[in-house]
Amino acid sequence: GYQRVLEENRKLYNQVQDLKGNIRVYCRVRPFKPGQSNTLSSVDHMDERTITILTHSKNGKEARKAFTFNKVFGPSVTQAEVFSDMQPLVQSVLDGYNVCIFAYGQTGSGKTHTMTGPKELTEEGLGVNYRALSDLFHISNQRKETISYDISVQMLEIYNEQVRDLLSADGVNKRYPLYQTNKSCLFSHNGINVPDANLVPVSLTSDVINLMNIGHKNRSVCSTALNDRSSRSHSCLTVHVQGRDLTSGNILRGSMHLVDLAGSERVDKSEVVGNRLKEAQHINKSLSALGDVISSLASRSSHVPYRNSKLTQLLQDSLGGQAKTLMFVHIAPEYEALGETISTLKFAERVATVELGAAKVNKDSGEVKELKEQIASLKAALARKE
Ligand code: ADP
Ligand code: MG
Repeated sequence: GYQRVLEENRKLYNQVQDLKGNIRVYCRVRPFKPGQSNTLSSVDHMDERTITILTHSKNGKEARKAFTFNKVFGPSVTQAEVFSDMQPLVQSVLDGYNVCIFAYGQTGSGKTHTMTGPKELTEEGLGVNYRALSDLFHISNQRKETISYDISVQMLEIYNEQVRDLLSADGVNKRYPLYQTNKSCLFSHNGINVPDANLVPVSLTSDVINLMNIGHKNRSVCSTALNDRSSRSHSCLTVHVQGRDLTSGNILRGSMHLVDLAGSERVDKSEVVGNRLKEAQHINKSLSALGDVISSLASRSSHVPYRNSKLTQLLQDSLGGQAKTLMFVHIAPEYEALGETISTLKFAERVATVELGAAKVNKDSGEVKELKEQIASLKAALARKE
């Protein structure tokens, strides 16, 4: 029974994959912390595409629930392996695509680890941000005989629905206007939605490391140990690429947003007041706006609600159309985290699978049925002629 449910789940998932194109969801499970190895885990089983978690049924008995993704990365998967899987996405930025990569999950589940790396950075520990940029430098260098590339970056933070510039020392205290896509022709800002924020040309991985250090320093100005702002704001490293074809003179533009989202944990409203409550409400609003946008793109809905949050407005050019989206969904393995793990997986499921799976697949099977009926009646007509 259970094996068949897994099979069914996977089959449905593959059908959905064919339909939904440019949106991918990867699940990454953090290892236990050192010394925690015997702790009870909420994860029952993992394979390349499926994660099964322990839940409880109503009568208190143990139960299981499976979730399927484009990929599941277990706790021993390295930073290099994670990156090698998404490398083609990065490469497409140099071909003129817009790409969005998100890290989603509760605080402590490994978002920053995936995007930036561990606090004590080593070569192997380097996260997606560094690897992506160094790959862009590498490929643009390989192509330098035919295309001349300019690569520059912005580092922004969205905190309480306000956009701030992490690359300017006083930028974290200023508010930056956001230019919307539908105004882009008027302003001719080349896809740069926050033209007032610093845009810094980069050509070496060391440039990027320096900038990210500045960004992290500016961000931490606003937080104390007890008040870790990084988990309650979204940070976005945006890479703008402009390439000029050396023979034709044609210009192509691509961009990549690398987003370390605010912690997705639900905050108990009875326990927080004032600023903390306001932050929680803003996070909640923007993460659900992001979920709404991605799921309406995935289901090819005619209306995509970009305007419901600053986050989705900022990323509008890079969500939908020809743009490519990758969401890393992070899971903490501890049993205590089960409640948040379930809500994280449900969010992922909403943007990736079931809802749209049911809608699309049903519609298609209706079409198939209709086509079969048409074929049958044509065959009958043919038979009558003979
Ligand atoms: P978040 O940004 O979601 O709050 P972090 O990335 O800071 O979480 O991760 C919490 C801790 O777990 C950090 O010490 C981090 O280095 C560690 N960690 C997270 N993911 C992994 C991983 N895949 N392998 C090893 N350590 C990890
Ligand atoms: Mg973090």
